Amino acid sequence: MINFTKFERINSEKRDVLQRLKDYKEVYKVFSKSRAKEQSDRCMQCGIPYCHTGCPLHNFIPAWLKQTANKNPDLAFALSNETSPFPEILGRICPQDVLCEGACSLNTGHGAISIGAIETHISEKAFERGLKPQFPKLLSNKKVAIIGSGPAGISAATFLLRKGIPVTMFERDDRAGGLLTYGIPGFKLDKSIVTRRIKWLLDAGMTLELNCEIGKDKNVKDLENEFDAIFLGIGATKGRKSNLKGEDSSNVYLAIDFLKTIQKRNFTNELECSIDIKDKKVLVIGGGDTAMDCVRTSVREGAKSVKCLYRRDETSMPGSKKEVINAKEEGVEFVFNVSPKQINTKNNLVISLDLYKTVLIKKDNKQELQILENSLYKEDADIIILALGFTCEEPNFLKDLNIKTNSWGGVITNNFLTSNSKVYSGGDCQRGAHLAVTAAVDGREAAKKIVQIFN
Ligand SMILES: Cc1cc2nc3c(=O)[nH]c(=O)nc-3n(C[C@H](O)[C@H](O)[C@H](O)COP(=O)(O)OP(=O)(O)OC[C@H]3O[C@@H](n4cnc5c(N)ncnc54)[C@H](O)[C@@H]3O)c2cc1C
Ligand code: SF4
Repeated sequence: MINFTKFERINSEKRDVLQRLKDYKEVYKVFSKSRAKEQSDRCMQCGIPYCHTGCPLHNFIPAWLKQTANKNPDLAFALSNETSPFPEILGRICPQDVLCEGACSLNTGHGAISIGAIETHISEKAFERGLKPQFPKLLSNKKVAIIGSGPAGISAATFLLRKGIPVTMFERDDRAGGLLTYGIPGFKLDKSIVTRRIKWLLDAGMTLELNCEIGKDKNVKDLENEFDAIFLGIGATKGRKSNLKGEDSSNVYLAIDFLKTIQKRNFTNELECSIDIKDKKVLVIGGGDTAMDCVRTSVREGAKSVKCLYRRDETSMPGSKKEVINAKEEGVEFVFNVSPKQINTKNNLVISLDLYKTVLIKKDNKQELQILENSLYKEDADIIILALGFTCEEPNFLKDLNIKTNSWGGVITNNFLTSNSKVYSGGDCQRGAHLAVTAAVDGREAAKKIVQIFN
């Protein structure tokens, strides 16, 4: 250990740009055994491990780095699964630069430990050796309904099944996974990895009801009577609109509709798609991770040009920096400090977008966005994608359960318990659109509360 002066930080190797533009396969390769050992060996085993605090799940990071460095991969696998419901997924998709790696003591100059890459390696190599997550027999006479199969629901199911409690998961879509399946594109997270996790839960005894929307296909009051507790993990996937003139034209799309349509097509292996981007000029409005997923999907769909339009400067972009770098490598053009004014259309089809240039002014120690005078200009466009964030849907069945919501439609909880004493909630529907790892924390902690009341 403590070999950070001997070895420099290495990131996971990426596939060649020209190759990766041809498909939706993952961009990053999994570390080899020797690379994972060498990179784990850099860890200082700090007395107070800031990485552990920086990880929302409080994973035992130094412990599994030590076991990887000491060539004890089975113990590393057991330790990394202890606190996390799906380490091989989070190692791939967490914005580590602002979480565990951002908090690593070596991040101040030597280069943080490549925690995400090592985490993915530990699980993937363990699966290759035939290891898999362990679950006990389902012995409890209590049962829990989980509404929503995203990271929050999967996490709650995992930690309940680990305690031998039977779980039934209801999902309105045709596949489980929530945004892991129908949001995050395959080049960041291969869909077979999500399917594999779900299969392990089914092997552990979970019942999964797909194409079953609670409040429509099944009455929520029946669920309340049938089960001893309910976990609500319905996400926040209602895309925000722009309120721009022209946004209702037929070739303006919300990011989530665009990404979901492409992923549904990818599942069928067909080439044609109801949203045809090929040879089109695409403008994506927004600067977060969802915008990055839209621009990178557009280049893979063969767009003529893809521009990302963001109202602030590059350093203010809210998403993961590595995804911006990946997008640039893949040929996406970035236009910073612009604010859309209106979408221009002809025969209900987009032809261009009018934009103002903006500037960031420092005022009372805060940065304020201002429109520059006489700065109006036009960007040609055939397709516009709005990646402006998400809100909650607030389904009617929440009222049937007497569940209180806040001003933006989020489910109000106290320690994951809603205003209904049988119903717990977490993930995006409770904290607002956030991250897979924080949804995983909520599912785990809510499961712990449910286990407590059953005991
Ligand atoms: C494009 C995109 C990219 C992202 N990239 C990343 C990333 O790289 N890293 C990261 O950490 N996070 C990322 N996120 C955020 C992350 O995906 C979410 O924070 C996370 O998925 C939230 O989990 P959840 O379980 O709360 O909700 P969701 O994943 O939204 O799952 C909710 C599920 O509930 C189902 N549901 C809703 N209502 C009902 C009902 N009435 N009956 C039955 N089922 C219902 C939905 O169909 C859905 O499957 C991204 C988000 C998007 C949109
Ligand atoms: S779950 Fe995310 S934040 Fe935690 S150790 Fe893994 S990559 Fe880092």
